[in-house]
Amino acid sequence: MSDQNAIPITVLSKTSITPTLFSFTTTRPDGFRFEAGQFVRLGIAPEQLLANAGKPKASISQKIFRAYSVVSSPYDEYLEFFSVVVPDGAFTSQLQYLQVGDTLYLNPEPFGFLTLARYQEPMPSDLWLLATGTGIAPFLSMLGDLNTWQNYQNIVLVYSVSKQAELAYVDKIHELTEQFGKLVDEPAKLHFVAIVTRENMADCFNARIPILIENGKLEERLDLFFNPATSHIMLCGNPQMVHDTKEALKNKGLSMNRRGVGNIAVENYW
Ligand SMILES: Cc1cc2nc3c(=O)[nH]c(=O)nc-3n(C[C@H](O)[C@H](O)[C@H](O)COP(=O)(O)OP(=O)(O)OC[C@H]3O[C@@H](n4cnc5c(N)ncnc54)[C@H](O)[C@@H]3O)c2cc1C
Repeated sequence: MSDQNAIPITVLSKTSITPTLFSFTTTRPDGFRFEAGQFVRLGIAPEQLLANAGKPKASISQKIFRAYSVVSSPYDEYLEFFSVVVPDGAFTSQLQYLQVGDTLYLNPEPFGFLTLARYQEPMPSDLWLLATGTGIAPFLSMLGDLNTWQNYQNIVLVYSVSKQAELAYVDKIHELTEQFGKLVDEPAKLHFVAIVTRENMADCFNARIPILIENGKLEERLDLFFNPATSHIMLCGNPQMVHDTKEALKNKGLSMNRRGVGNIAVENYW
């Protein structure tokens, strides 16, 4: 569906995480459905920019749209998103000035195949969710879905950021673990691994995800191993991480998921 059919949604809350990261919630239009892991296209209109306290670029004359993974679960009554601020980015240099009550536009067609439903073989056993930065978004939505906790024995969530302050949603990850631990008989065991690459943080890795796979340190720390017969692996975020991690995994005998069969599914954010 074209962005021209986008419908207005209202900003309900906004949380600043760092000067270049923030999250926000919006109303969820009646009848808007999506699967955990999918993304939408969000738009911002010039009149909204002019109404805000920011410094809109005078050249913007029509709505601008960008892809955004949904953070909230398919069962939440609101929608949540997690955004970077790219200082010169056409969209986020404006979106950063968002205020509660502002209007955004939602293309009501959900997109993308970074969903658990894409796996037919191997059968679910261990789910590896590997993200950089805002690439954690689709995985948060999956952790809000009962099926994820019911269908797997182990969920590994690896979250790589540059600086400790960028580790958003850590409390939320623990809350979801507790919540679904009570709701599900024999829930999956969550193994959460934080990586901070440009600072030293106690109990944290500080090397990139593909390096930790190549040198075996990630598996060693978890005492859990990538296995072509049992692993579903999703990569999301920085294209360099996605590329290098894919190669590291292929070298360990894992394969890209095509037409439902295979281990690795990916989403590049740029
Ligand atoms: C399927 C999909 C889902 C996405 N989901 C999200 C999301 O949930 N949250 C989000 O913040 N962005 C997400 N993005 C990226 C988003 O669509 C925009 O690129 C981003 O909002 C920046 O827009 P911009 O116009 O300001 O800059 P752009 O002109 O779009 O990008 C300029 C540059 O900024 C950098 N960049 C873009 N996005 C990011 C990012 N997320 N983190 C770090 N650097 C980045 C890249 O170097 C890029 O070349 C997603 C992209 C895709 C394709």
